[in-house]
Amino acid sequence: MTTEPVHAGGTVALEGEQLDRLITALSERKFEVLGPKLHDGAIVYDRLSSLNDLPSGWSDEQSPGKYRIKRGKGDALFGYVVGPHSWKKFLYPPVQRMWQAERNGKGLHILPNHDSAPSKFAFFGVRPCELSALAIQDKIFLGGPYVDPGYKARRENLFLVAVNCTQPGGNCFCASMNTGPKAVAGFDLALTELSQDGHRSFLVEIGTAAGAAMLSGIPHRPATDADKQLAERVLAHAARHMGRKLDTRDLKDLLYRNYEHPQWDKVAERCLSCANCTLVCPTCFCTTVEDSTDITGNHAERWRRWDSCFTVDFSYIHGGSVRATPRSRYRQWMVHKLAAWLDQFGVSGCVGCGRCITWCPVGIDITAEASAIRQSDQAKAPAEQGRESE
Ligand code: SF4
Ligand code: SF4
Repeated sequence: MTTEPVHAGGTVALEGEQLDRLITALSERKFEVLGPKLHDGAIVYDRLSSLNDLPSGWSDEQSPGKYRIKRGKGDALFGYVVGPHSWKKFLYPPVQRMWQAERNGKGLHILPNHDSAPSKFAFFGVRPCELSALAIQDKIFLGGPYVDPGYKARRENLFLVAVNCTQPGGNCFCASMNTGPKAVAGFDLALTELSQDGHRSFLVEIGTAAGAAMLSGIPHRPATDADKQLAERVLAHAARHMGRKLDTRDLKDLLYRNYEHPQWDKVAERCLSCANCTLVCPTCFCTTVEDSTDITGNHAERWRRWDSCFTVDFSYIHGGSVRATPRSRYRQWMVHKLAAWLDQFGVSGCVGCGRCITWCPVGIDITAEASAIRQSDQAKAPAEQGRESE
């Protein structure tokens, strides 16, 4: 064991119990450490004070419309996948005051609108698909001409400890979306949990100078070839055992040319327009704005709240909703996620986390819907039409 300085781009190994020192080091540097915790029968993201807060030995069982936690085979610290929460709730809170104002004798005066969020978050246990979701939200909130100042402030101070997925879930399809099960970028530190002969250790990839600085002082050892080979094996096994697959070949054009496919009617017969899929999705970002006043009429506030394209009000424009039926709303969501997002942001809006499948009360599965449309493509691709006429 050594506490020699480490460098960005390097890889070291930590013995299992030393991981607690990382949480301590983050707390000592005034980070609010957030990570997976067992709460009310689900694994959610909450404040961590030590390694004992992690759901050690727990796993989860996921299928369309179903989520159960269960005891895992061993005492793995990260033997489960993503639950109902995503990290967006910390960077982009569900409810946020945008401004407030007070009326006095001379008119309306804008009051200070202090952001009460802690300035430094450390996300501990971010899955590779979730890192991709963060990168997508960065494009949305930071990439365009209008930057979200609250998101920017939280994002700039963020420390990211990723955890590669060694046991994919029943609804995971990150391998199809090239977002997992191994993190390749966007982390300060990335861990792979290794368990052999009852002994737990972590392979640690150092992504940034901040990650290297955080690790310095924590006893570690050089990563051996055997550590690296074991990590490669478990991650390759995870990639081969995804619960679901999504064929992304030509997916954008497939959806664009099938606006009138009868599958939209079939899915609308089951869809409740409950909006669960959008609220659990780590990339969905739609909001609405609400104004309120107090009973005296002297104090006014404007709040931003998460909203969903599944609500009728979301597309209401002077006199009616543009998307008045479940058919149009589901089609809008799925075509936006898997097709229009590519035109808008240069990347798919789906990272393959599977949350929308798990938390849909009627078990609607985005991969199955895309596959049904592919199987009975209603309109041939222009290229195919061209080939046929040759
Ligand atoms: S669309 Fe579904 S699977 Fe894709 S990122 Fe959103 S919640 Fe995850
Ligand atoms: S697809 Fe499922 S989760 Fe989404 S709105 Fe419809 S019923 Fe709700």
